[in-house]
Order: sequence, then C-alpha cells, then structure tokens
Amino acid sequence: MRIDGKTKVYGIFGWPVEHTASPALHNAAFEHLGINACYVPFPVETVDLEKAVEGIRAAGVCGVNVTVPHKMEILRYLDEVKDSAVRLRAANVVVNRDGVLLGYNTDAEGFRRALEHAGVEAADQDVVVLGAGGAARSVVRAFQKAGVTSIALFNRTREKAVLLAEEFSGFGAPIDVWSFSDPDVDTLFENSMILVNATSLGLRDGDPLPLEGKYIRQKHTLIDLIYEPRETRFLATGRERGALTINGYGMLVFQAMEAFTLWTGEKPPLKVMWDAGLEKL
Ligand code: NDP
Repeated sequence: MRIDGKTKVYGIFGWPVEHTASPALHNAAFEHLGINACYVPFPVETVDLEKAVEGIRAAGVCGVNVTVPHKMEILRYLDEVKDSAVRLRAANVVVNRDGVLLGYNTDAEGFRRALEHAGVEAADQDVVVLGAGGAARSVVRAFQKAGVTSIALFNRTREKAVLLAEEFSGFGAPIDVWSFSDPDVDTLFENSMILVNATSLGLRDGDPLPLEGKYIRQKHTLIDLIYEPRETRFLATGRERGALTINGYGMLVFQAMEAFTLWTGEKPPLKVMWDAGLEKL
C-alpha cells in the first residue's frame, strides 16, 4: 500500500475493535481498484464518541464504519441521518461530504444481498427471527422489504420484541411476538421456512442453542448472523438435520460493499473483498 499526501483515510469506530475484519475487506478493494485510500481501526470508547466524530471533520477523514457499541449513539452527532438509518435508529456508515456528516445503515441491505447471494428466496415465506437487538432490527427490515408473508419474533426479553414489532408494524409483513411456551409453537416451526439467529448466542464456546434443537427441521433454511465461529451450534444442528445453513459472513461482506459504494461511488470487487476477509478470519 502506498501512502502519500493525497491518501484518503477511512476507518471504523468501535470498542473493542481489534478483531474487526473490515480493514482487510476495504483495503483489498482500494488496492484492487487502484484507489489512493486506506482504512484503519479507530478504538473509540463511548465517552469519547462525540470528540471522535468531531475528529472526522477536523482531520478530514472521508468516512467511517460504526460498530458496537456506537451505532445508535452516533446518530445524535451527525448532520443528517438518511432514511436507511432513521428507521433502524442506528447508523453503521458515516460519509463525510465536504464537512457534512451523513449517517446511513447498510446492514439490512447487506442481509438482503447475502440472502440473494446464497440463493435464498424469502418472498412469500413465513420466517422466524430469534433476537430483538440491533441486528434483528436490520433482519426484520430486510424481510419486510423482501416481501415475506409473516415474521415470528422470539426474544429473551419479550418487551424488546414487542417494541420492535410495534415500531415496524405497517411497513411490510406483520410481526408477531412469540414465546416457546405458546401452545402453537410446534406448528409455527412446521410452517416456517427460514429461521434466523440474530442473538449473540453462539459467539462463545459453550453457549446454548438459541432455541431447542427439536424445532429445527430438514426443510428449514438456517441463517446465523454470527460468522466467527464459522459454524455455530445452531448451524451445526441444522446441518446434522439436513437443513441449508448460512453464516453471517455474507452479510458482513455485503454491508461493507454498500458502504464502499457510498464512500467512493465505485462498484466494489466482491470476490476480492470476500477472500480478503476470510483470510483475516
Ligand atoms: P444486541 O446486543 O443489540 O442484541 C443481542 C441480542 O441477543 C438480544 O436479542 C439479546 O436478548 C440476545 N441475547 C444476548 N444474550 C442472550 C442470552 N444469553 N440468551 C438469550 N438471548 C440473548 O447485538 P446485535 O443485535 O448487534 O448483534 C447480535 C448478533 O448479530 C451478534 O452475534 C453479532 O455478532 C451479530 N451481527 C452480525 C453482523 C454481520 O454483519 N454478520 C452485523 C451485526 C451483528 P435480550 O434483548 O434479552 O438482551
């Protein structure tokens, strides 16, 4: 990589941020396309977020990704929040347009494109989403845009699922909040085709499954948003039952590709980014 006086700087704000694969993805794309730019991790603690956002303007950083725990908090420091981030109440991309900071969210589109890339047709399907955090919001948004028939939502903290369902109601498929003690839960899984784990269960060794294994069937497509480990217990259980299984790596790559286009206006190289990230993981 050649750094000179004209090199544009991009990066990622997060805490912790050491394990991010995003620099590998974006730097590989810059190099492949011959763009004089680099992408670096910025470890930003919550208490420093406002100052860090000021720093984007002050130092002429061209754009940043935003990850845990800043995606919601950052909205208040931006000049304009674009539609994609308004509905999700979270931004994962900031574009510095001549000192004006614009906030976008590419997670929902990243999830949608990952489904498409994996050949999963979500339209007219009944789907189940496990979790009601930031990632689950993107998944629900993407499923509504994809034209699913219904969304069944499960979450440890039921109230959060109820709030999510209320917020997204009227923007696409109806969202029903379920719990595993509901009498018709077996029938729900019998009738559903796509199950998504959008909880953080599976990130750590020894985590329990996000649902009892008995609900997983051969006909299901199982998607876990987690990509490290590449195969969670949720996906392993699905594979053992003969289900189609997809991890979260595609979502990571496609949200990055969307961000890359917002920053550079260029079409990013899928294979180059895909391979570079895998090498890093
Ligand atoms: P949040 O912290 O916003 O949400 C976490 C979710 O997991 C909540 O629904 C929470 O339930 C649930 N949860 C956490 N611990 C438990 C537990 N012990 N038992 C049951 N449920 C639990 O995180 P995000 O939504 O940002 O991220 C969720 C997952 O998605 C993470 O694994 C993350 O790595 C992944 N992700 C992947 C992306 C990709 O590009 N592939 C992008 C973004 C996220 P409760 O509400 O009860 O706390």
